[in-house]
Amino acid sequence: MGDNRSWDQLYIGGAWVDPTGPDRITVISPVTEEPFGSTPEATIADVDRAVAAARHAFDEGDWPHLDPLERGAALRRFADIYAAHLDEMAELITGEMGSPISFSKLGQAPAPWALIDMYANMAATFAWEEERAGMMGTAIVRHEPAGVVGAIAPWNVPQQTIISKLAPALLAGCCVVVKPSPETPLDALLMAQWVHEAGFPEGVVSVLPGGRQVGEHLVRHRSLDKVAFTGSTAAGREIGAICGGDLRRVSLELGGKSAAIVLDDADIGRTAQGLRFASFMNSGQACAAQTRVLAPQSRYDEVLDAMAAVADSLVVGDPSDDATEIGPMVTQRQQERVSGYIDIGRDEGATVVAGGPGTPDGIERGWYVRPTIFAGDNSMRIAQEEIFGPVIVVIPYADERDAIRIANDSDFGLGGSVWTGDKAHGLEVAKRIRTGTIGVNKYGPDLVGPFGGYKASGFGREYGVEGLVEFTEVKNLAP
Ligand code: NAD
Repeated sequence: MGDNRSWDQLYIGGAWVDPTGPDRITVISPVTEEPFGSTPEATIADVDRAVAAARHAFDEGDWPHLDPLERGAALRRFADIYAAHLDEMAELITGEMGSPISFSKLGQAPAPWALIDMYANMAATFAWEEERAGMMGTAIVRHEPAGVVGAIAPWNVPQQTIISKLAPALLAGCCVVVKPSPETPLDALLMAQWVHEAGFPEGVVSVLPGGRQVGEHLVRHRSLDKVAFTGSTAAGREIGAICGGDLRRVSLELGGKSAAIVLDDADIGRTAQGLRFASFMNSGQACAAQTRVLAPQSRYDEVLDAMAAVADSLVVGDPSDDATEIGPMVTQRQQERVSGYIDIGRDEGATVVAGGPGTPDGIERGWYVRPTIFAGDNSMRIAQEEIFGPVIVVIPYADERDAIRIANDSDFGLGGSVWTGDKAHGLEVAKRIRTGTIGVNKYGPDLVGPFGGYKASGFGREYGVEGLVEFTEVKNLAP
C-alpha cells in the first residue's frame, strides 16, 4: 500500500498529530470491492482541538491581518506544489471513488489547482477596500475575513468542493477546518500534506476525515463563524436550520436536476454528443449533470433515439482505463439507490429506451449500473428527484413557452443548457431559466464566474470574485 493510501495521523492546526480515538475509515474500492486505503477517523474531541487552534490563530495570530498579497503568496506556493502532482491526485481520486480517469485528469485534479491559482492571482486584483464619496463625507468599504470557517465536502468531486472553499477562505484571511466525506478521506490528507509544505501559519488549516456526526459537531460549534457546505439538499436543509438558529453565516451548494432544452432548430447529432459529457460526466455522479432532456414534441423520437444511442455506446468499465466513460457508483449504497430509481421509473410508467435494471454485460464485480434513458414526463419522481447516477429522462414539450415552464418546474436550479442553431435566441431562452449556471450548446461554467444554485440547489456562490466575497464580512468605515 503506497503512502497516499494509508495515513496514521490527522492534520490539526497546521501539524500532523495522533488522533484522539482508535477508529479508522477504510475506503473500499468501488471496482474490486476490496479495501483500497484507510485513514484515522476524527472524533468530536479532534474537532474541538481543530476549532480551538483556528480560533486562536484567527483571534491572536497575524494571518487575518496580513497584506492580502502575503496570503496570495502562500496560496501561490500551494498552487505550485499542487501543479506538480496533478496525475498523482487524479489517480488517487479514481482509485478512491471510481471517477473515470479521463474525468479525473480533466477535472478532479486540474480544476482545484486552477481555483488555487485563480485566488492566488486575485490577491492583487480584488478591491479589498473601496472609497465612496457620500453626503456625509467618505465611506471606506472594506472586506474583512469572515472568521473561523468549517468547510464540509462530498465525495463526488472531493478536491474541487474542498478547494472551492479553502482557497478563497484562506485568501480572505479566514482559518479553516475542513471535513471531507468519509468516502474520500485519502485525497483530503494528500492535499493536507501540500498545504503543510506550502507553509501556512500554525492553526490556520485543519483536515479531519469523519462522518456526519463529526460534521454536525463542527456545524454546531459555538466558536465557528461560518459554515461552507457542499452536499445533498437533505443535509443542507439541516445545516441551514442549525446555522439559522445560531445566526451563523452559511453557504450551501446542494443538489440539482438540470434541464437540457433541445430547441426545434437544434442539430440533434451534435446535441447528443454534447450531452454525452454534460449528462454523463463523472458517471452521472455530478450535481450539475443534465438529467432532464426536454425535446420538442415534433422531434421527440429523434432526440430519444439519439440519447439512447449515446447511452448504448458509452464505454462502461474499469475507471483507471483511459477509454472508460462510465465507472462504478461510489458505494454499494449508491448503486442500490440508483438501481432503485430505475425501478421507480418503470413502476411510474416511464419507458426504458436504453439500459435499465441490472448490471452492465460482462461486469462481474464492482458497483456498476447501466446507463439508462427513460421516456417520461416531468411529474415523475425520476424527473423531480436527484438520482445521482447515469439515468436520464427525455421529456416532450409542446412549444418554447412550455419548454421554459417545464425546465423551471423543479425544486432545483443548479445547471442547465439550451441546444439550438440560433445562439442569440438560445441566450434569450437561457435567461428565462431559474438556475445558477447555464450554457448554450454546451454545459461547463467557467471558474471565473460564480457557481451555485437557485431554489433548493442552495444559496451563496462559489468560484469567481463572488466565491471570495462569501468568506468576507463587509465593514463601512468612516475615516
Ligand atoms: P451528503 O449530504 O450525504 O454529505 C456531504 C458531506 O456532508 C459529507 O462530508 C457528510 O459527512 C456531511 N454531512 C452529512 N450530513 C451532515 C450533517 N447533518 N451535518 C454536517 N455534515 C453532514 O452528500 P454526498 O452524498 O456526500 O454528496 C452528494 C450530494 O452533493 C449530491 O446531492 C450532489 O448534488 C451534491 N453536490 C453539490 C455540488 C454543488 O456544488 N452544488 C457539488 C457536488 C455535489
